[in-house]
Amino acid sequence: MTARAARLPVTPADAGTTIFRGATLIDGEGGPPVADAEVEVRAGVIRYAGPRRSTAGDAGEARGDVRVRELKGAWLLPGFVDVHVHLAMVPAPAERQREWFAEESVFATAEALRATLDAGVTTARDLDGLTPGYRRAIEAGMAVGPRLHVAVAMLSPTGGHADPHAPNGSLPGWAVRPGMPEPGLVDTDDDIVRAVRRLLRMGADVIKVAASGGSGSPTDDPDDVGITEDQVRLIRRLVDERGGRPITAHVQTDASARAAVRGGVDSIEHGYDLSDETIDLMLERGTVLVPTLSVLMREMPSTLDPDRRQARERMRRRGLDSARRAIAAGVPVALGTDAGVVPHGANLRELAWLVEAGMDPLRALRAGTLTGARLLGLDSQLGSVVPGKIADLVVTRVDPLAEIGGLCQPGAIDLVVQSGRVVTDRTGPIAPSGH
Ligand SMILES: [Zn+2]
Repeated sequence: MTARAARLPVTPADAGTTIFRGATLIDGEGGPPVADAEVEVRAGVIRYAGPRRSTAGDAGEARGDVRVRELKGAWLLPGFVDVHVHLAMVPAPAERQREWFAEESVFATAEALRATLDAGVTTARDLDGLTPGYRRAIEAGMAVGPRLHVAVAMLSPTGGHADPHAPNGSLPGWAVRPGMPEPGLVDTDDDIVRAVRRLLRMGADVIKVAASGGSGSPTDDPDDVGITEDQVRLIRRLVDERGGRPITAHVQTDASARAAVRGGVDSIEHGYDLSDETIDLMLERGTVLVPTLSVLMREMPSTLDPDRRQARERMRRRGLDSARRAIAAGVPVALGTDAGVVPHGANLRELAWLVEAGMDPLRALRAGTLTGARLLGLDSQLGSVVPGKIADLVVTRVDPLAEIGGLCQPGAIDLVVQSGRVVTDRTGPIAPSGH
């Protein structure tokens, strides 16, 4: 479906060799943990991953051209992939954002990028709100953040989930995003052809559609119909004419999920109300579910009125049950948080929710690494700690098998390595040798 090779921003640049030694390795492929492991990284690529070798690297160490990091007592995991974030959604109040200069938006997003990377997310997919400029700035080393795939803008009908306008036509602060194209409002097939071709021309890595309404948008309702099955089919054809890209659909209702899957999307976001029939269809088609439990289960504001609170409670129960049944049936699941709606930098909280929904910790970790990489078309280069792949690594003192919920706590991630470079280091001063 995605014939053209997916972009891999952030190319390895560090030519040196580093050996990470002594940690317990979880390689992300689903195999059992390897105690007292060794991972050798050269020129940003993993050259060895497995049990500690007796003498390897010692010669280089003696010469001083190999750096060694002793990680006894720690866990070493692949860098995480969050396939559903909104890095342009930042915490400042909407009224203030309305008065921002473009630069303030950019720097606020830079903070969100940093928080996401520090949390252990070395690759992220932004599903509405970022131009490819962010991807390119990170790729070029001008900014620090997860390597990015961007949807640029989500497609929906006028008055649908992608439409930020209030009834009087005004735009709330969060919807004013300098440098962004018009929101992706499409009603006719002609609109869709033009919008999809423009997104591809801009360099979108993924096309996102809203197949149903949503909760956060001003004038629609989650039960509303968005992009239809026939329209998804048209988008599939347009995308495949241009080398292929993944298509993903925001869905709140079962009917919208089924329509999107039939139309040919690669993944569905949320899917809080999947019927067993739709789950079977997803299994048949290999459609990935991104259950975004972090946003479903987020804390409700104390000001929420009792009716809305009850409705949210119902949605939570239904959504968790939906994810549970999909997971039990074996639907491939990728980690996505909707960060932006929930705070940036707590991405790994989703792992605990996936365990709550029935995954064992190893499977949850795989959802957060290899399955996400596969959904982005990057699994031959990312998503697990095996020789030949790009060295994206996370080191933590938290035992992910015993206390997966601890991974999202502040300071839980000691070290983040992206393309072989240490980009986050909370381990304190460790004398590097030979660099
Ligand atoms: Zn979202």
